Amino acid sequence: MSNYTNTETALIHGGISIDERTGAVNIPIYQTSTYKQDGFGKMRGYEYSRTGNPTREALEALIRDLDGGYAGFAFGSGMAALTAVLSLLHSGDRVLISSNVYGGTFRLLSKVFDHFGFTYTIADTTDTAVYESQITDDVKAVIIESPANPLMTVTDIKAVAEVSHKHGLLVIVDNTFMTPYLQKPLGLGADIVVYSATKYLGGHSDVVAGLAVVSTKELAEQIAFIQNSTGGVLGPFDSFLLIRGIKTLAVRMDRHVENAERAAEFLAANKAVRKVYYPGLESSQGYEVNRRQAKNGGAMISFELRENYDIRRFFESLELVSLAESLGGVESLVCHPATMTHASIPADIRKKVGITDGLIRLSVGIESIDDILADIAQAIEKAEVK
Ligand SMILES: *Cc1c(COP(=O)(O)O)cnc(C)c1O
Repeated sequence: MSNYTNTETALIHGGISIDERTGAVNIPIYQTSTYKQDGFGKMRGYEYSRTGNPTREALEALIRDLDGGYAGFAFGSGMAALTAVLSLLHSGDRVLISSNVYGGTFRLLSKVFDHFGFTYTIADTTDTAVYESQITDDVKAVIIESPANPLMTVTDIKAVAEVSHKHGLLVIVDNTFMTPYLQKPLGLGADIVVYSATKYLGGHSDVVAGLAVVSTKELAEQIAFIQNSTGGVLGPFDSFLLIRGIKTLAVRMDRHVENAERAAEFLAANKAVRKVYYPGLESSQGYEVNRRQAKNGGAMISFELRENYDIRRFFESLELVSLAESLGGVESLVCHPATMTHASIPADIRKKVGITDGLIRLSVGIESIDDILADIAQAIEKAEVK
């Protein structure tokens, strides 16, 4: 394991960053499915690429080092990573999930894993006492997102991990929004961290991938077994793209966050905006907790326009900022959670957790913030119903 305590350096030199055989400063794309054996049953450490591939292994070692875990694993998507992690559970088990968990995670539990007899409860992880009261005997794990999408709800990861461990729960944190550059959940007591690496880690909206990092040897053995058995692995080329993306994570995130802070202030001061959700704003829920456990508020903002603004017209008037699913790429994107990312959550639950039809989610890119804000300002102006 590399020992670079500064994340900026570990992003570039962590894991296996030099090719042993040639000295290449980038790990080659080992585009192979299998490996010739030197003799009967004599392998050079690789037998078949579902089980192990040098490019994927370099990525897995890199994310392990970035999160300070025991081992890392790369999957074909964030959902494949979550599927592998949730495969640790058994029929009869129950999982607690944060109230505004990613829509796909909710769908995976409510429409796929429920076939296998393990179920979920939506828990209030923002209030430790309420949270603890929701832990029944069958609860075996908790999935936390902080900040959770789309209302950027902050959970005190350390406090929830402590309570959870008292009851023997496995603590899983989806750290997609923060990345290991801004927040390191294993250091706060989590057992497993998962990522949709499709977002900030890849960073260029050109690869779909998932990562998981576990804290112990025992979990590593279990996830390695599940990864190889269920087979949702990341291919060598996508592993290469992800390593390439991760190298610039620190500089990208710095700019994303600088832009997001400006955008949040702009929105908060705009009379057309009813409410802004951004953990980097002092007035936001969880500001203090987030400041304690993360480097800053990240670069995802949600906001609501007042009733006399037509959000359809707002979306259609944007020129620079694209209406699209996903987040965390260099380009600014907006989405409408109620019909897009969170459409798989039933309307009554959406309403209960506060995902209104007027909510807009903004993934602040790294373009000139002046251009981003000018585009949003003109779209807001056009959306006003006079
Ligand atoms: C996108 C996303 C996922 C799912 O990841 P995919 O790579 O799209 O499968 C999971 N969690 C969060 C928070 C996400 O934003």
